[in-house]
Amino acid sequence: MQFAVLGSGSKGNATLVRSGKTCLMVDCGFSVKETEARLTWVGCEAQAIDAILVTHEHSDHCKGAGAFARKYNIPLWSTRGTAAVARFGELADLRKLDAEQTLALGDLAIQSYPVPHDAREPCQYSFSDGKTRLAILTDAGCTTTHMEQLLSGCDALLLECNHDHDMLWDGNYPDKLKQRVAGQFGHLSNAQAADFLGRIDTSKLRRLVAMHLSEQNNTQALARLALSEALGCDMDWVQHAGQDEGLAWQTV
Ligand SMILES: [Zn+2]
Ligand SMILES: [Zn+2]
Repeated sequence: MQFAVLGSGSKGNATLVRSGKTCLMVDCGFSVKETEARLTWVGCEAQAIDAILVTHEHSDHCKGAGAFARKYNIPLWSTRGTAAVARFGELADLRKLDAEQTLALGDLAIQSYPVPHDAREPCQYSFSDGKTRLAILTDAGCTTTHMEQLLSGCDALLLECNHDHDMLWDGNYPDKLKQRVAGQFGHLSNAQAADFLGRIDTSKLRRLVAMHLSEQNNTQALARLALSEALGCDMDWVQHAGQDEGLAWQTV
């Protein structure tokens, strides 16, 4: 299995997961033009994408999703709640899934799972090709024992490290926004992400990527340090997917 991140953060998110003949895009939070440009960075043709899976309606995850799906005639999957509010526009092939569902698309088995986040019916996804399991977890205000069970034993984990607690609370955000970000339906901090790692089985973990970092309230070094301390591994082993540069194809 391979994955690449076209960009990660509050200005836009899109991640590619592929195995065998199947290539999926999770979220499309960039304009169509920007998504096309970023696909060329990683050498992926838009026509090679078999489906788009949207996590929730926030624009950093679905800004270009409807238009991209329309332009390239790609099926778009989302929960009913997300579809109801996401403004995808008229889509020939909009497919609904439950926040918790298993699904087979080509060579990949997909598991959606619900997350606590301030959206209508948000979910995140994990993928398996029968040998390898990759999970994405971003845009969650907290973690649950259910999420721990689902993500335990995965081979690759793309994990939100949105903010450093002190940088957020000492920073310039208005109080209301600080409370939203740090709240139960906001975003995972470095410490929450590290704590989550400490509570799941990481014995098979071969790739760990810090995702969705706040440009104001976090640094790559703080996020990677927190995750590496939780695993007892070298900080350099923990990868990071940036807002501007994303992350090139990685093999799991
Ligand atoms: Zn987001
Ligand atoms: Zn969100």
